[in-house]
Amino acid sequence: MESFAKYYGSMYQTVSRCLPGTDMERIDRAVEYAREKHKDQKRKDGSPYIIHPLATAEIVAEMGLDADAILGALLHDCIEDTDASFDEISKLFGPTTAQLVEGVTKLTRANFSSSEEAQMENLRKMFMAMSKDIRVVMIKIADRLHNMRTMQYQTPEKQISKCRETMDIYAPLAHRLGMQKLKWELEDISLQYLDPGSYGEILSYLSAHKEKDEAFMHTIDQNISQRLSAMGIHSTVYGRIKHVYSIYRKMTTQGKTMDELYDIYAFRVVVDTIPDCYNVLGHVHDLFNPVPGRFKDYISTPKPNMYQSLHTTVIGTQGIPFEVQIRTWDMHETAEYGIAAHWKYKQGAGDGSEKDFEWVRRLLESQQDTDAEDYVSSMKIDMFDDEVFTFTPKGKIVPLPAGATPIDFAYAIHSGVGNSLVGAKVNGRICNIDSALQNGDIVEIITSKAAKGPSRDWLNICQSNQARTKIKQWFKKEKRDENIVHGRASFEGEMRRVGLPLSITVDPEVSPQLLKKLGFDTWEDMYAAIGYGGLTAVKAVGKVRDDINRALKLQNQEQRSFLNTKPDTAVKGRHSVNGVIVEDIDSCMIKFAKCCTPVPGDGIIGFITKGFGVSVHRIDCPNAQNRDEPHQAPRWVRVCWADAEDQPFETTLEIDCITRDGLLLDVATMMTTARVRVKEINGKDLPGGRSVFTVRFEVKDLGELDAIRNKLLNIRDITGIRRGQN
Ligand code: MN
Repeated sequence: MESFAKYYGSMYQTVSRCLPGTDMERIDRAVEYAREKHKDQKRKDGSPYIIHPLATAEIVAEMGLDADAILGALLHDCIEDTDASFDEISKLFGPTTAQLVEGVTKLTRANFSSSEEAQMENLRKMFMAMSKDIRVVMIKIADRLHNMRTMQYQTPEKQISKCRETMDIYAPLAHRLGMQKLKWELEDISLQYLDPGSYGEILSYLSAHKEKDEAFMHTIDQNISQRLSAMGIHSTVYGRIKHVYSIYRKMTTQGKTMDELYDIYAFRVVVDTIPDCYNVLGHVHDLFNPVPGRFKDYISTPKPNMYQSLHTTVIGTQGIPFEVQIRTWDMHETAEYGIAAHWKYKQGAGDGSEKDFEWVRRLLESQQDTDAEDYVSSMKIDMFDDEVFTFTPKGKIVPLPAGATPIDFAYAIHSGVGNSLVGAKVNGRICNIDSALQNGDIVEIITSKAAKGPSRDWLNICQSNQARTKIKQWFKKEKRDENIVHGRASFEGEMRRVGLPLSITVDPEVSPQLLKKLGFDTWEDMYAAIGYGGLTAVKAVGKVRDDINRALKLQNQEQRSFLNTKPDTAVKGRHSVNGVIVEDIDSCMIKFAKCCTPVPGDGIIGFITKGFGVSVHRIDCPNAQNRDEPHQAPRWVRVCWADAEDQPFETTLEIDCITRDGLLLDVATMMTTARVRVKEINGKDLPGGRSVFTVRFEVKDLGELDAIRNKLLNIRDITGIRRGQN
């Protein structure tokens, strides 16, 4: 049975020693408050409960944390175990203390045990993420250390589970925070319960060899101390046996017995300055033979957890090797208490705000060129801001990106769970499937066989790539037809938006190249991909945009060069249809545009119509003037007249004239005399005593047409003749 007075006295002394100038009245108020709140509770050994917060606060003070943290430690179990509230603590002791207590409470409530090896790193991350304030982590480690020190009062089951948790979570965290002393103690106590046989074996070996060990260490200590004082170097030398768990680990990893194990002795030389460190190293290497390859300079390159020292292993008397660590007092502080040691150098009183962590930033900055990334990932408390850690109802941890929803959670479990998701419970309560999950949330997915599968909206709601990919896969498989329609619409929309001709996708010359670039066998496949979200229309068009423009440019160039050359030489030896040869197309429907009715001898160009083959226009036809526009260009093809085959071509002339009786007859007579086959003549009166005739007839070529035109112009009252332009 422990007494309040003993623990209170010890805590009081430690606080006064480690944190001189602390407002002890405030500490006392917190002690009294906690004592009152816990007054009906007992520790497992029957001691008053208050000794636990007192002991925790003492450890926190030893770490060198500030007064707020000491208060936080004194009150750390109040919210969890008594009727104290956040608001009350905040009112009595300030918001910072209240936040620390609340942070510790959250960690106490979370279940960090019973997880597989692979999940450990995530558990540790969650632990850090949930803490928000690094002092919370340290109070929690102090809390755990005291509970470990009093572990003998727990049931064997509890001992095992708590010790595992300590090895899995607390010792690695202490290591990461650079708190070696605490880490060793946590490890040694854990080993004592987890492998009592080995622990006892190592202890009894050490005690059996105690005399020899001490004699050895004394000799070495003397050797070093004498040399250094002779050289005028002010130093303190400590010899020690490495801690039990580190010996245990050496034995198990190297498969050796204690007798075979060397390197269990460690010496520390603590000096005043960094130059002294290197001087000491020289003297140690002069006194003893160094083991090659064992020298490490953690002064010039600190470890990620801020640890600095020179390490070397040398061979002592009787050929026994031992390690020497050389460091300054500052480095020593950091080595023992890690991150906490830096509270001592803080300026002014902290208010728990950003400012308090100024030094973290400074440290980060000063270590930029060494191990910065490693350092950040091991130390920075908000580095898990982009992650959230959740649990299945069975306690499996599921790490998700920050802002993740039950949809992400479901797909993280299995795509089958996601696809049959109909609802979700978070911490036992039904909640929306698009609500953001928090660290430590226990998520239960409600599924149904009748579920219709994911909705397209989910793609915008979910935060994880995993969920997005799986949802897309579902759409890909389940809804191909629908996807093609959706996808085609968005692709065509995007093509129009950027002014590219849709016809290019059916251009037999360009299409295969485009599909290859896009990575699909058919356009349907690609539309389907856009439809299920595997590809965006913008991205698809972006991928082929350059190729399309290049193809269009090329086609335009060909067109132009074709127009500048003689038709016959440009496209020779091809089959003609209706007296026209279409370049690169051996047989296709050819028709002559009604608007300009070209005849052999006219410069012509072909337009690929939708479903009616190639329509042949005159080059000067107004309808052919848009052929340079990017969205039209690919549909214009080079055509030329085939070698003369006495074949008639229909054409149209428009005749302007002054209205008079008999003029139509005059025209008809002239045509008949010239043996022209007239298909149709229409006349139309215009205002102002004028008329216009349209004559549709057949000619062999442009020569014949010109002759007819001249004859017509000889008829009285005809004022002008144009090629038909409907
Ligand atoms: Mn506690």
